[in-house]
Amino acid sequence: MTLAHFLDGLRCALCGALNALWLDSLRGLVECSECGQTALTSPEIGEEAR
Ligand SMILES: [Zn+2]
Repeated sequence: MTLAHFLDGLRCALCGALNALWLDSLRGLVECSECGQTALTSPEIGEEAR
């Protein structure tokens, strides 16, 4: 059982890896499996501001 969900179609803002982001629903953050970048989830996930 896993609580992590990979996010299709999302690109890491830091390293630019596609489909490397996964959602840690337990902690409410997104982490990149490539560079380890973490970010808090926004209510409008998928709408990237930058
Ligand atoms: Zn990354």
